[in-house]
Amino acid sequence: MPEGHVLHRAAIAHTALLAGHAVTVTSPQGKFVDAPLLDGGVCDGVTAYGKHVFYNFGDRHVHVHLGLRGFFVEHAVPLPEPAGWVRMRLAVPAGAVDLLAPMKCEVFDDGQVASTVAKLGPDPLVSEDEDEAVRRLRAYRGPVGVALLDQAMWAGLGNAFRSELLYLARVLPGTPCAHLSDEQARGLWRSAQEQLMIGARLGFIATVDGVTDAKWVYKQETCRGCATPIETATIAARLVHWCPAEQS
Ligand SMILES: [Zn+2]
Repeated sequence: MPEGHVLHRAAIAHTALLAGHAVTVTSPQGKFVDAPLLDGGVCDGVTAYGKHVFYNFGDRHVHVHLGLRGFFVEHAVPLPEPAGWVRMRLAVPAGAVDLLAPMKCEVFDDGQVASTVAKLGPDPLVSEDEDEAVRRLRAYRGPVGVALLDQAMWAGLGNAFRSELLYLARVLPGTPCAHLSDEQARGLWRSAQEQLMIGARLGFIATVDGVTDAKWVYKQETCRGCATPIETATIAARLVHWCPAEQS
């Protein structure tokens, strides 16, 4: 599943392409039936919060959630004919964005945007309230491996970041949140901010060196830090990876 860095990166790129332009909004696949409501409107910009993206046209917004399989394809002109199951195409004179296989693509008013964001916890790439983020994590009832995937706790993290951030903090995924020290919780928040920012800049997760897509523990046979065989378990319905030697 695309994690928050992918959506923030898309919001920045799509704002650069679309903002200030009248946008031709179509649904080549036919499934986004509300496309004509926005067709020809001027885009004010594109915002991301957690794993949600909003294309803003005055008081109307296209709400997109990629879900497990969704993705964007950006095109320069001349535009190709829409290929495959393009749910939505947003076209301007300089190019277009195609949206394929999303979980959600729907028109929202201001209130629906606000209520969607209100259900989410702080996004490490948006929120500046570290104390609130730390308070929410330490107050969470359950293990930290569940908390980090719960979008109502913090918004934007997915499965790869979960394993990598817990390794960087040297915390086991089964640790109850109530047992986290203030320092551990603060460290997790700060590294979530730092790593999501690096990911948004690069377009991929680069927890080891900020340059390559190498991982410390996620989907590794052995720990990149100490070569101990990695252990795994299913927590919150997804497989989490950890180093039994360095995390406790
Ligand atoms: Zn290790």
